[in-house]
Amino acid sequence: MTTVRTRFAPSPTGMLHIGGFRSALYAWLLARHHGGEFLLRIEDTDRERKVEGAIQGILDCFEWFGLDIDEGPTKEELAQIDEDVTLSSTVGQGDFGPYIQSLRLKRYQEVCSQLIESGHAYRCDCAPEMLDQEREAQKAAKQQVGYGGRCRDRNVSADTPHVVRFKMPENPELVLQDGIRGEITWESIPLKDPIIVKSDGFPTYHLAVVVDDYDMKISHAMRGEEWIPSTPLHLLLYNALGWEPPIYCHLPVVLGTDGKKLSKRHGSTAWDSFKDQGYLPEAVVNFVARIGWSPGDGCDEEIFSLKEMAERFSLEKVNPSSGVFDYDKLQWMNGLAIRALSFEEFTKRVNPFLEKEGIKLSPEQWALIGPHIQERTKVLTEVAPQLECLVTDSLEREIDQMLSKKVDAELAKKILTSEKEALSVLETFDVEHIEPAVKALAQTLEVKAGALFLPLRIATLGKKATPPLFESLQVIGKEVTVKRIEDAILEL
Ligand code: GLU
Repeated sequence: MTTVRTRFAPSPTGMLHIGGFRSALYAWLLARHHGGEFLLRIEDTDRERKVEGAIQGILDCFEWFGLDIDEGPTKEELAQIDEDVTLSSTVGQGDFGPYIQSLRLKRYQEVCSQLIESGHAYRCDCAPEMLDQEREAQKAAKQQVGYGGRCRDRNVSADTPHVVRFKMPENPELVLQDGIRGEITWESIPLKDPIIVKSDGFPTYHLAVVVDDYDMKISHAMRGEEWIPSTPLHLLLYNALGWEPPIYCHLPVVLGTDGKKLSKRHGSTAWDSFKDQGYLPEAVVNFVARIGWSPGDGCDEEIFSLKEMAERFSLEKVNPSSGVFDYDKLQWMNGLAIRALSFEEFTKRVNPFLEKEGIKLSPEQWALIGPHIQERTKVLTEVAPQLECLVTDSLEREIDQMLSKKVDAELAKKILTSEKEALSVLETFDVEHIEPAVKALAQTLEVKAGALFLPLRIATLGKKATPPLFESLQVIGKEVTVKRIEDAILEL
């Protein structure tokens, strides 16, 4: 096989969403699997839709997920389009640049002239009003809407304002061997002489993508299935130019669990929101990869490294039908990934989230509580709220939670008073001493050990779901423990 070269070709029109990221990931995995190259190309020919910060967002996304780019835009190229971005060292420089479409206009014009000369394209100076009228008339007559071909043989001069249109051949035979879906055929093409260069001299996406994929020697063009209807035009352009097209691989859409196309309704879909919500890149990447790709039997619970994933990746195992984005499954997978971290690494990852919420524990305190937290955490944003009760100066208690059929307010007071006394006399205030001191009260008070813990937990930590009780008491220390028990007794 010739060198596998794949690309991700985003338009900088907003924050990269998770469906788009999946196309990038599959393209990257395919290139890495075959020891080929992965390119990033910025498709910015639609100048009106360009969004500030979008290119930086794309680069940050690759960096966060750890996907390296063999060839992509350089800092100088980005400066030429007024983008002052931080470019990580993982973006390599290739020989086929510039990797930004708005810097390649000359090349598109060159190819366009070639198409005009060979009779595959022509200049058109029809006024927009005329085209509107034509369209209205077609609609009224229930005909296919599109350009009627008035300028086909008019040989419009290059000096008059014009667009360039591709001359659609009559009844072309079109077959696509899609890398994921197999053969796709078209009976007819719902396009009438589409524009390939706009009046401002910019190419439309169709011309630019064909020229660039060819020039950059792309072997596999991985993209969303919404581009299938445009593919006949791309194939015809290749044909007209006498070039070999890449293998198109159209990825199915990603759906929400309700079977509808994934959108904001299902929760956030922008890549960086997963970062902000406390997901680990390795969990998201494993999860996203498996929406529509299966690494093989029995591997569902495994978190693969990117390298392992690339080794296993193949187009044959990509499912041509739509995949589902299930947030519950992602959370579960994130929990797996969190537990797979070393404690040191977990600490490193969770720290920014604690800092943001102003939660500070000493290294000793964290060493005591952290491993328990790591065991039960699904997303990193859950950690700070769990620790809040340890560091707060004004503990709020769900005092009603203390009471049950077996423990009324009177008994709760009695239990807490005994606990306060037992704990206040401890000389060493650590788990090894706290736990037996509390448990020993079961006999004296003639209650089950379980009845002793809930009042103590609510009194000292405020609610039922907290980090482990005795470790927490050691963290807050004797003085605070005793004071909190006293305050709780007054609240009862
Ligand atoms: N620029 C197109 C987009 O952002 C990419 C289409 C393609 O990969 O061919 O959707």
